Amino acid sequence: MTAPIEQISSFFADAAMPANFPKSVLRFRNTRWAGRLGLGGLSESDWIKHFARFEPLAGNLKAPLALRYHGHQFHVYNPELGDGRGFLFAQVRDDSGRLLDLGTKGSGQTRWSRQGDGRLTLKGGVREILAANYLEALGVNTSKAFSLIETGEELHRNDEPSPTRSAVLVRLSHSHLRFGTFQRAAYHDDAEAMAALIRHVIEYYYPDCADEALAVAAPALFERMAETTGKMIGQWMATGFVHGVMNTDNFNITGETFDFGPWRFLPVSDPNFTAAYFDQQGLYRFGRQPGQGLWALQQLGGAISLVADVDELSKSMTAYEPAYQESFAAHTLALLGLERQSSLRDDLLFLQDFYGWLTESGANWPQTFFDWFGGEASLKRAANSPQAALYERPDFEKIRKQITTRTPVRVDRLEHSYFQAARPVDLLIETVEALWSPIADQDDWGPLHAHLDKIDQARCAYQWPR
Ligand code: AMP
Ligand code: MG
Repeated sequence: MTAPIEQISSFFADAAMPANFPKSVLRFRNTRWAGRLGLGGLSESDWIKHFARFEPLAGNLKAPLALRYHGHQFHVYNPELGDGRGFLFAQVRDDSGRLLDLGTKGSGQTRWSRQGDGRLTLKGGVREILAANYLEALGVNTSKAFSLIETGEELHRNDEPSPTRSAVLVRLSHSHLRFGTFQRAAYHDDAEAMAALIRHVIEYYYPDCADEALAVAAPALFERMAETTGKMIGQWMATGFVHGVMNTDNFNITGETFDFGPWRFLPVSDPNFTAAYFDQQGLYRFGRQPGQGLWALQQLGGAISLVADVDELSKSMTAYEPAYQESFAAHTLALLGLERQSSLRDDLLFLQDFYGWLTESGANWPQTFFDWFGGEASLKRAANSPQAALYERPDFEKIRKQITTRTPVRVDRLEHSYFQAARPVDLLIETVEALWSPIADQDDWGPLHAHLDKIDQARCAYQWPR
């Protein structure tokens, strides 16, 4: 066996062939993560050989695998899904021993492409690099953008001026197995596939759930998935991240943010903000994300009930809400550099006031978090903020008091040069478009790389525990 996925690939994968691209120009290489995978030493031509032509990594999968899955798209069940423009290329371990996937986007058609061309636009690839790096910098559990290579084709899309440039992305993820993978087994009433999937996921991702009895192991696994999903969405809500398409094929098994095509970051707090232009009803709008996470879990639980008791699974699902609340509070306070209170309830009361003010005042989201990192320790920084006038208004008094009377944590981080600037690095839509324009107009990649450097500074400034 060359890769763990082969344990279940007869149920959940089909061999795939990479497209033969007319060009391959390296545009982005994630050197930090390549180093952590032991791939830091690859020459540029070897990088292109593996991540544009997809020649196998030594001792790894001999041919790429297009993964089979189903999923609810905007709450409508679709049994026609599967990797239609990507595949699993290799499975690797990082320096802490975690099993990670190198998966692709835009690598060509597969048997699951339906009417699609199997391609990714260069702009889509650039957007994914930006979002994945920024989420990581803000401490959110996320897949990573590993490589982006421009491929020299002309693509036609409704949401970009066309023809538009093409690219192939490699994504590093702590599994590309999805809620929709379980749904596929349930749809086909295939208890053998479901059992194999559950055993596989436990063995490689949740070993603490191991139990010989599937009736015990399955609800235990579901509980852990409910927790990790709740934790991820708590992090989204604390960073103003709008995923855009919370379909059940876009939830992975380890609570990693992924497949966030139309993503946005909120400029101001707005529960009704919707990211995807095709989400006319606002189903996945910002304020609905916690509820939609639960909805997706309900579908997952329904699928797992093929092999486990419904009451046990319902009990497991109750882990979602507290995990979400805990994460929302913990992450908000970590981003503000403030200590937790002894009771979660007190923290949630603060969050209610804080986010209530953020919404009503129309304050800039990233600026506010940046200005008040460390609370009292940032009084002077906040007084010099571009939005300092907002902090002088009477409606802020209560918030100021709460922020400045809480004990700051990790004030040493304020010494990082990132916190000396007047503004935080942001990824608001204007910023993204301003980074894309020079690429589209003059093939100038300088501003993008400069912004990625700033994002990396933010990551170093926050210094999230590994
Ligand atoms: P997504 O919206 O990226 O989660 O994709 C939903 C489904 O559509 C998945 O099965 C994708 O593989 C497929 N898909 C999206 N875009 C394309 C494309 N250009 N060509 C082929 N399949 C695609
Ligand atoms: Mg998807």
